[in-house]
Amino acid sequence: MISFESVSKEYAGRAAVSDFSLRIGRGERVVLLGPSGCGKTTVLRLLAGLTAPAAGRILIGDREVSGPGKLWLPPEERNLGFVFQDLALWPHMTVRGNLEFGLKARGIARPEREKRIRAMLALAELSPRADARPGELSGGEQQRVALARALIVHPETLLMDEPLSSLNPELNLRLRQDILRLHRELSFTLLYVTHNREEAHCLGTRLVLMNQGRIERIEPA
Ligand code: ADP
Ligand code: MG
Repeated sequence: MISFESVSKEYAGRAAVSDFSLRIGRGERVVLLGPSGCGKTTVLRLLAGLTAPAAGRILIGDREVSGPGKLWLPPEERNLGFVFQDLALWPHMTVRGNLEFGLKARGIARPEREKRIRAMLALAELSPRADARPGELSGGEQQRVALARALIVHPETLLMDEPLSSLNPELNLRLRQDILRLHRELSFTLLYVTHNREEAHCLGTRLVLMNQGRIERIEPA
């Protein structure tokens, strides 16, 4: 369970997120939907621990991870995966290298790394592309590498910030199905941000409609 309790955040005296309260159950797929500038990315950054709230608190399980002006738990200990719109793949590393990086950083031994990489390459349908570099991949393949890289460390929660916005409609549909399939296989909690209503309905079990930093309403998808 993830809980936002009356969380607020401002930048230079202007509210980016106001009195934001939301509880997200394990394995749920929650989509934050709203126009540009309504505070969606800020909500993800608050949960990730990249910024602290001005007021309110955030809990993961029953542990308070952020409070007013405080990060009680640093980002790397929050067991989260993050996929950004620009993907931020390492261009000089192969697909395999991109996947291995987070496993090495966590001190996972080589045999286990190899095993997880093989399984994740298969799951993301990237096995034939393991030795390619990001620049040699199609847009869809790059998206799947970003997803696979975030998921290979087995995060409890995956945060995705408009990851499909730059794709053409056909590829956008295909990748939605990939995300849903990976969710079924790996059963993580998903917090997904978009300004595309159709994408939101496809991917969410619940939609959180935001406007000017506030929750307007919450709908079942
Ligand atoms: P969204 O992701 O929905 O487009 P954001 O969360 O990025 O919205 O931004 C919410 C508001 O906070 C916007 O008005 C934005 O300009 C402002 N904002 C976000 N990040 C910063 C920052 N680092 N510095 C100053 N203002 C920011
Ligand atoms: Mg944003």
